[in-house]
Amino acid sequence: MANESFDFIQLATPGVQGLAPYEPGKPIDELRREYGLERVIKLASNENPLGPSPRAQEAAAAMLSEAHRYPDGNGFELKAAIAERHGVGPERVTLGNGSNDVLALVAMAFLEPGRKAMFSEHAFAVYPIVTQAAGAEAIVTPAFGPEAAQPHGHDLAAMAELIDESVAVVFVANPNNPTGTWLEELELRSFLDRVPVSTIAVVDEAYFEYAASESGYPDASKWLDDYPNLVVTRSFSKVHGLGGLRVGYALSHPQVGDLLNRVRQPFNCSAPAQAAAAASLADKEHIERSVSLNDEQRDVLARGLAELGVAALPSVGNFLTFDAGDKAAQINEGLLRSGVIVRPVDAYGLPGHIRVTVGTPAENRTFLAALAEQLKGVR
Ligand SMILES: *Cc1c(COP(=O)(O)O)cnc(C)c1O
Repeated sequence: MANESFDFIQLATPGVQGLAPYEPGKPIDELRREYGLERVIKLASNENPLGPSPRAQEAAAAMLSEAHRYPDGNGFELKAAIAERHGVGPERVTLGNGSNDVLALVAMAFLEPGRKAMFSEHAFAVYPIVTQAAGAEAIVTPAFGPEAAQPHGHDLAAMAELIDESVAVVFVANPNNPTGTWLEELELRSFLDRVPVSTIAVVDEAYFEYAASESGYPDASKWLDDYPNLVVTRSFSKVHGLGGLRVGYALSHPQVGDLLNRVRQPFNCSAPAQAAAAASLADKEHIERSVSLNDEQRDVLARGLAELGVAALPSVGNFLTFDAGDKAAQINEGLLRSGVIVRPVDAYGLPGHIRVTVGTPAENRTFLAALAEQLKGVR
């Protein structure tokens, strides 16, 4: 019968036993409850401050009266819209419950105990999580140092040096979160040239639209014919502002797509989410407005941080990461008390670093003023 001292942890697979859960940004309501605050701004999860396209909202709402019906498990309409956008066939598209889901599908299909996955130091947290959950071995390659042109960014030469056929999956984020650093076309292509065709090469482009105007920033989705082992992932959570609905996708070789779809839950993408994503793809104006606001406000935020003596790492995403020093935890706590949620990224091997999402002009002003106040307190 019930035995209080029974240790269920030891029943889990070794990979899951060693797993530390993903730490999300603090929800606004939680901070309101905990600190009794009225006004809270959240710049912690790289969400689009303009919210979703009105057309996406309408499309999602229109699906609610049909909520008793299962969604289209094959995502016909959305896949067709995505395929058309990329000029590929729908057999190259795999839908995910967010692109995190797609990353987990890659791990489920290609990783197991005894296999290896490779990614850089300071890379997006989901790569180590899905690798560990699959019980696979993680090869963590050294990142560039703090003085490099892309501080703490992926060092693809170091990765190429260490990669061989024994690596089942390599994950590359372009740009990377939380560093914001990016890879140029030439360096990414020369890396992919050195990845064995038997290694699945994931290029995570969650922030593609924000980065696209940077000169030399590549669109890896155009290279599917050059690299049959390439899997490009995209998200509707960032510039499309649909993080709450959970949609992302992978583009890949049709056979890789077939494998990902074998392990995918049949209804992993809800009907409102599919409808909203398709409508958002069609609303180019909303995306353009979101990107130009980000371009402008990322500069404002970067200048503000530099003026406060905490210069940010270069970033092509909708976020900036800065070194807040050894009082970072205290600064973060002070920001929370003043109703500003940002994201400390110590867990990424960046002690003292804080990531802030580019918000609206008013949100960015509020954040900079609150940070100035906190920095005064610790200096
Ligand atoms: C936010 C993010 C994702 C995707 O998130 P989903 O909400 O699951 O689509 C993927 N990769 C990186 C690097 C991210 O920052």
